[in-house]
Amino acid sequence: MPEAALLIDLDAIAANYARLRAEAGGCRVAAVVKADAYGLGAERVAARLWAAGCADFFVARLAEGLALRRHLPKARIVVLEGPVPCEVADFVAAALVPTLNTPGQVELWGDAGRRLERPLPAALHLDTGMCRLGISATEAAGLDADRLRAIDVALVMSHLACAEETANPMNPLQAARFSEMSRRLPAAPRSLANSSGIFLGTAYHFDLLRPGAALYGINPTPGRPNPMQPVVRIRAPVLQVHRLDAPGTVGYGAAHATSSGSRIATVGVGYADGYMRAAGTGGVAVIAGREVPIVGRISMDLMTLDVTALGEHEVETGTPVDLLAGPGGIDRVAEVAGTIGYELLTRLGQRLRRVYLEATGA
Ligand SMILES: *Cc1c(COP(=O)(O)O)cnc(C)c1O
Repeated sequence: MPEAALLIDLDAIAANYARLRAEAGGCRVAAVVKADAYGLGAERVAARLWAAGCADFFVARLAEGLALRRHLPKARIVVLEGPVPCEVADFVAAALVPTLNTPGQVELWGDAGRRLERPLPAALHLDTGMCRLGISATEAAGLDADRLRAIDVALVMSHLACAEETANPMNPLQAARFSEMSRRLPAAPRSLANSSGIFLGTAYHFDLLRPGAALYGINPTPGRPNPMQPVVRIRAPVLQVHRLDAPGTVGYGAAHATSSGSRIATVGVGYADGYMRAAGTGGVAVIAGREVPIVGRISMDLMTLDVTALGEHEVETGTPVDLLAGPGGIDRVAEVAGTIGYELLTRLGQRLRRVYLEATGA
């Protein structure tokens, strides 16, 4: 019997990239593949996106950039965490573009360029209200022209705090601050929008878009229909079916009561696989296109489904079950668990074998 697997549809990722490109009009669309492409496997995902025409990739850490460089020799790879002195040589050797988040990093990168007698490319990250990473307005005003000339400013960027809330006044405020702050810097392509920011409209697009979540099927427009195709599902076989001859209970804490005649199917996926314990009550699985409720508590390696509504022969040992695939997909499962699709995806367990689906190749 095949073990539980995480099915990752690379064609759907490429289709989502094409969808975002259509939304982008003429501007460039990068791909954010930090945290191992949100848990889906940066190597395969990035290779597929490169084949689909994506030339700009963002990762969070130097180590992620170095690993990705081995698979994408020609892509532009931007590292969002700014460089510290001991990392400069690695950045240069792998031709990674650092994001400069502080005046100190601007100085560090300028000095590195002077030593090599050529300005090195970097992204300047402006803080327009997120207060996480980035150069403040006051600091930006204090950057002197000589320091900036020592750098090849390849991108000026900022990040939206509230992009998934279309009416949030933070959005126009940050866009206005971004325009104002970037005007005082050397002319360079500009980038503001993440996945949700893309759907705020062209006033947020500038020159380069930085989607992550939407590529992987997370709804960038919460509260409205998901414009993206689903990318992931967990597929696992039924391990055992119980037919209850008398009323009984299911699982830890005997928390779920069943009536006589119920049938309960056990599936080998649990919270150690990243299917959160909190996603049990109210969650559903899909068997042959039909939804069945998850019942009882999700345990480390197992969960239980009430399959009474399906025919006996429709659910047997070995019958495949899909998780994360019902209506609303990962967003819905995350909501049941009190979190967001981003956290769900990035926490899917390494015990799940990754299986890549790809029909068209490129
Ligand atoms: C993670 C991240 C993104 C991608 O955001 P999504 O909401 O996943 O599209 C873009 N820019 C920065 C700076 C990020 O940290």
